[in-house]
Amino acid sequence: MAHVAGLRCRECGREYEVAAAFTCEWCFGPLEVAYDYDAIASTITRERIAAGPPTIWRYQDLLPVERAAAVDLGAGFSPLVRADRLAAELGLGEVWVKNDTVNPTNSFKDRVTEVALSKALEFGFKTVACASTGNLANAVAAHAARAGLRSFVFVPANLESAKIVTTAVYGGNVVAIDGNYDDVNRLCAEIAGTYRWAFVNVNMRPYYAEGSKTLAFETAEQLGWEAPDHVVVPVASGSLLTKIHKGFGELHAVGLLDREPRVRVSGAQAAGCSPVATAWIDHSDTIRPVKPSTIAKSLAIGNPADGYFALDAVRSTGGGLAAVSDEEVVDGIRLLAQTEGIFAETAGGVTIASLRRLAEEGVVRAHERVVVYITGIGLKTVDAVAPHVAPTATITPSLDAFHEAFDRDDIDQ
Ligand SMILES: *Cc1c(COP(=O)(O)O)cnc(C)c1O
Ligand SMILES: [Zn+2]
Repeated sequence: MAHVAGLRCRECGREYEVAAAFTCEWCFGPLEVAYDYDAIASTITRERIAAGPPTIWRYQDLLPVERAAAVDLGAGFSPLVRADRLAAELGLGEVWVKNDTVNPTNSFKDRVTEVALSKALEFGFKTVACASTGNLANAVAAHAARAGLRSFVFVPANLESAKIVTTAVYGGNVVAIDGNYDDVNRLCAEIAGTYRWAFVNVNMRPYYAEGSKTLAFETAEQLGWEAPDHVVVPVASGSLLTKIHKGFGELHAVGLLDREPRVRVSGAQAAGCSPVATAWIDHSDTIRPVKPSTIAKSLAIGNPADGYFALDAVRSTGGGLAAVSDEEVVDGIRLLAQTEGIFAETAGGVTIASLRRLAEEGVVRAHERVVVYITGIGLKTVDAVAPHVAPTATITPSLDAFHEAFDRDDIDQ
């Protein structure tokens, strides 16, 4: 792997060999993949990427695996759609929606899982596992089935029932834990220290996290190799936001962008679990853990592993963070569905509601080219909107009944 230099500590900068490791032995800081950008720049081209598959694996030169697509259900290269009706509703100019609901298991977690499991195969693991708020469980169970790997996924027992069904169907082990995600995560850290498993968000985390960069790569490619002015990204552990930021920088580092990107990065959280947004609003560097209470369960991480790095990315780029109520989340889901025909899960509602808030506050501006990341599908969180939507009318099968239910002027247009 000529293009990967090794693992590097994000705190003290010490370097390590490529291995199933995730913390620095010296300072206990988190490790991340380090690349040889000069080596990559000498081979990577826009044409080479365009000739690749319409998946995350077209960017294999910037991903930390020996063999691309070792585990592949076709994640990535999702549509980037111009959202003029949404923009008009929010008083904004150029807004684009990156629609990651169309991935194999309908969330962006397919991207990170394909990278983590491809790496797990390289390391020779036979069992893969994860701690999940739902979407990662779907993705790991599906990809493990595809790769013939044994899987254990650990989730909070109070998860949306759709997310349990859409995980268990793949036949792996699903362990529902009587506790919140942070309890699940603590148990998983213990299990990861006991068994030789590939835990995608523990000992595989440096590789897992890299998968999120593909969202930035695709965005730039789909905009004709230009970075946007502003991105709005949902925050759970903070990894996605951090890596989208890193991704634009890497494209420039390897010579794929004509101009240096100046992407303002903003984050979206639900008020019921907003440790990063709260630190931002309080002008604090300390992210205080919270006990989550929100319908946005996929974002309900009270003690975010990458919270500090996410906060730093927002600060250093001049972005902002919003914390929105559950009511605003539902409004956000409906607004996106009604203006653009995209049915997002609660995390998407958080993102649209945060975009609205940040636009009102003047953080997101009308002259900017804005990209919002819609990371999961509404069909997994139907209960969130079910009380708010219903048939327009329920009638007997006769023309008379139809005319009774609707005003003639309304139908005859
Ligand atoms: C996991 C998840 C996120 C955020 O992921 P982090 O990298 O942990 O911040 C966003 N949206 C959805 C739908 C998710 O499942
Ligand atoms: Zn260190």
